[in-house]
Amino acid sequence: MPAHILLLEDEESIADALIYSLKAEGFQVTWCQLVQEAIVHSANVDLLILDVGLPDGNGFEFCKQIRRQSEVPVIFLTARASEIDRVVGLEIGADDYVVKPFSPRELVARVKAILKRTQRQLAAVTEQSMTAEPTQTQSQATADQPIKAQQITAQQIGDFLLKPTAVQILLKNKLLTLTALEYRLLSHFLAHPQQVLSREQLLQSCGQSADAGYDRNIDTHIKSLRAKFRICSELNYLITQRGFGYSLNPQGQTT
Ligand code: CA
Repeated sequence: MPAHILLLEDEESIADALIYSLKAEGFQVTWCQLVQEAIVHSANVDLLILDVGLPDGNGFEFCKQIRRQSEVPVIFLTARASEIDRVVGLEIGADDYVVKPFSPRELVARVKAILKRTQRQLAAVTEQSMTAEPTQTQSQATADQPIKAQQITAQQIGDFLLKPTAVQILLKNKLLTLTALEYRLLSHFLAHPQQVLSREQLLQSCGQSADAGYDRNIDTHIKSLRAKFRICSELNYLITQRGFGYSLNPQGQTT
């Protein structure tokens, strides 16, 4: 199986050149332009290439979040060659960084070097059993797929179990039957628990236009999600924030 790389870069021209070079070397590439998309797609990848400045966040913050759960290799694309960026990038657990402008060939060479190193390290620990955190499930290392050993296949968030690799979400251990849009919407809520999200933000999270007149569509999707939740639990998870939007309480509440 080719190594799977997630590229988080909002500038299309940079992304295009990189995707071309990576694919030419046989890598599988998933391209995201937003941090929230990358959160959804970051499970089960072999390496992350992260831009720092992104429309909905910051590559450093995203890396910190990833590092709490996974040792997947990370390379930063940084626009500034300043020392601070380098130090911050490496301190929060990046494996390497390149300063823009860079040649795609150089980056591909670094990707290969890091994957080689990681594969060697993981091969060395294949014999040891992996100890999983109680809140997450980790796949076992095998000789065939050593690189996937430390990546998360499932994440428990309150009563919800998010399985990005299987594109599934369970509530109280019962599988929710979701449309693609509902899955994206709920994933977005789970990435931002207890945060008040506007209808516009929610529409954008599921790839819909936030043009005037469409924002009430969200109410329909919320209604449908609530109905599906009720099959699994009596608690209320999606809380209406009058005048603002909605928030998710992953533990559920009685009102
Ligand atoms: Ca950028």
